[in-house]
Amino acid sequence: MIIVLKNGVGRTEAGVLAAELEKQGVTVDFSEGANQIVLGLVGDTTVINDEVVRANRLVEKVMRVQEPYKRANRKFHPKDTIFELPGADGKKIRIGGDSFVVIAGPCSVESREQISSIAADVKKSGAAFLRGGAFKPRTSPYSFQGMGGHGLDLLLEAKKETGLPIVTELMETSQLELFEEVDVIQVGARNMQNFALLKVLGRCRKPILLKRGMACTMTELLMAAEYIMAGGNDRIILCERGVRGFDNYARNILDLAVIPALKQKSHLPVIVDPSHATGLAWMVPAMAKAAIAAGADGIIVEVHNNPERALCDGEQSITPDAFSDLMETLRKYAALEGKVI
Ligand code: PEP
Ligand code: MN
Repeated sequence: MIIVLKNGVGRTEAGVLAAELEKQGVTVDFSEGANQIVLGLVGDTTVINDEVVRANRLVEKVMRVQEPYKRANRKFHPKDTIFELPGADGKKIRIGGDSFVVIAGPCSVESREQISSIAADVKKSGAAFLRGGAFKPRTSPYSFQGMGGHGLDLLLEAKKETGLPIVTELMETSQLELFEEVDVIQVGARNMQNFALLKVLGRCRKPILLKRGMACTMTELLMAAEYIMAGGNDRIILCERGVRGFDNYARNILDLAVIPALKQKSHLPVIVDPSHATGLAWMVPAMAKAAIAAGADGIIVEVHNNPERALCDGEQSITPDAFSDLMETLRKYAALEGKVI
């Protein structure tokens, strides 16, 4: 961090500020120009609150050289984070590295028949995880809110039947006790900056699928990951799911460029959600292929056995047949990128 002091601030006053900063564990180098002193902070500057420094009456300008996140930062952890989870039929699922993970299932669990039939279909086509929401964050309070605890039970039944590990969204900390047998906890886009939730998930020992907020920057996504990691949980999968734009030809704008950017800045695995990113089933295959080409470590895709009758997100859900075709194509694309599905 570089702190430029105001014109005319003398060495004594600057020394007092430097001593304050050094109390926070950094060392401060002085560089004295004709009229201005510049302080260079060396060490772990993630603990320094730039807003406080900016508010100091001696300070003209503050520039961060280092990113404000540390645990999620590739500089402090150059190797990719790769972790394994038990999959169906005694197989191991690798997340990160040279593997491309496919998570598939309906937006919401709607009935026993629905979830168990989709689970069997996506398993047959080669999905590694079953997704399905039991607690749904809906824009309208009058829309289907998910089946809640009963939906979670049905998801767990489908897990038992197929062996597929499950990914499902947790909306508030009080639900955590119901998530004992959930394999990966999803933090939805709307909750990416629910810091109380992130702190609790930092203390839990389950992998977290962290979706990017629809109006959040890459740095904010990494800071949300940092919250979870600061609590001691470092098994995080980042997910790009589209951001708000000015055009309405699709539900969101899939920010494909954030994939290489995230991979450069962070060691965490990154997946793409082509379903929420586009909102349109016919666009999903193209964006899933693009995700592989952009270097993603996987996708999460909505599959429904009857999209026209889906209680949530039918327009963006692909059918089990379309999913099966997509998997065949993705295997070829993944191989080109040196990845295995
Ligand atoms: C979902 O995965 O069904 C969901 C609600 O996603 P997002 O949080 O990205 O909108
Ligand atoms: Mn959905």
